[in-house]
Amino acid sequence: MKVGILGAGQLAKMMALAAHPMHVQTLCLDPKADVCASYVTETRQGHYDDKNTIEQFASEVDFVTFENENIPAQTIGWIAAICPIAPSKDSLLCAQDRILEKNLFDALGIHTPNYRQIDSLSDLTQAVEALGLPALLKTRRFGYDGKGQYLIQEYSQISTAWESLGQENLILEAFIPFEFEVSQIIVRDKRGHIQYYPLTFNEHKNGILRISKAPHMNHDLETMAKNYCKKIAEHFNYVGALTVEFFVKNNQLIANEMAPRVHNSGHWTIEGSVTSQFENHIRAICHLPLGSCEPLGQIAMFNIIGQVPSREKILSIDNAHLHDYGKTAKPNRKVGHVTIQAIDASLFSQAFEAVNNALQG
Ligand code: AMP
Repeated sequence: MKVGILGAGQLAKMMALAAHPMHVQTLCLDPKADVCASYVTETRQGHYDDKNTIEQFASEVDFVTFENENIPAQTIGWIAAICPIAPSKDSLLCAQDRILEKNLFDALGIHTPNYRQIDSLSDLTQAVEALGLPALLKTRRFGYDGKGQYLIQEYSQISTAWESLGQENLILEAFIPFEFEVSQIIVRDKRGHIQYYPLTFNEHKNGILRISKAPHMNHDLETMAKNYCKKIAEHFNYVGALTVEFFVKNNQLIANEMAPRVHNSGHWTIEGSVTSQFENHIRAICHLPLGSCEPLGQIAMFNIIGQVPSREKILSIDNAHLHDYGKTAKPNRKVGHVTIQAIDASLFSQAFEAVNNALQG
């Protein structure tokens, strides 16, 4: 069995690592030449809008999946004519566009920040009147890690915000003064069976995920999050891992965005759950039975941003596992992560402190 993965970054690398023990081979395709999945799997350089490249790629594999949302709809069509692709095209198109995503949340009764579609400066002025300030102006497409966003705090910033985000295809969202952020990851197979990971607590800094902790013990929130994800997955007859990120305010969930793929806030599942999100995603898209998502104690994941510290420093901490993606150091770039996992609460706290200090020092 061979799985084709569009993209060859760290998510593809971790999918490939999870696939190989099951004797599922992987082939990644990425427009870039310098890709970190190449350390563990066959990779190929090619553009998603090149029909010959895509058809050749699809003809060499049994199933196709993707590691990020920026895949043209046309590419999905070319692949689907040759071999199965999952998650579905509709879920991908929805996740590519913040307006479609929010319309879906509304239609399914999932709370989301108030929002307005912005196609002109006058739309923006009217939307600011309607939603009030502060409000976040975002690009509808291609935003990630807080990129493509402008926080409007005063009326005088409206035209600067409009100009700085390219003057088209924008969305204005009410700013939510949330208490904290969580994410829910589920995985659904072809027959409609769903496995649910525990709710994950997430800490961001400057729009980039820094720390995830699981399980986040809040029964009401977790029940709500699982129910929302189930609704979305059933709506799309979804196959694979699905992530939804939420803000929490007054013990209510407010959906920020969905990702039709494995997700950074689920990296902890590699050492921290019976079956990782990567393995379960591969199992789902290959029509194999899903594994348990039970957590193995208390777990935290720290993203390494910019530059990986020395291996010795991290690996000398009890219960810490280092994932160095092998990427070139660059400010604000996710270059690796560290997971800690412990059953004992005091061992967990000690490891947490030690990793936190090591990554800051
Ligand atoms: P995003 O690119 O939409 O995932 O946003 C990145 C981060 O910006 C989120 O994880 C939040 O910390 C923050 N953020 C995004 N949208 C809002 C909002 N409507 N209100 C408050 N904070 C937000």
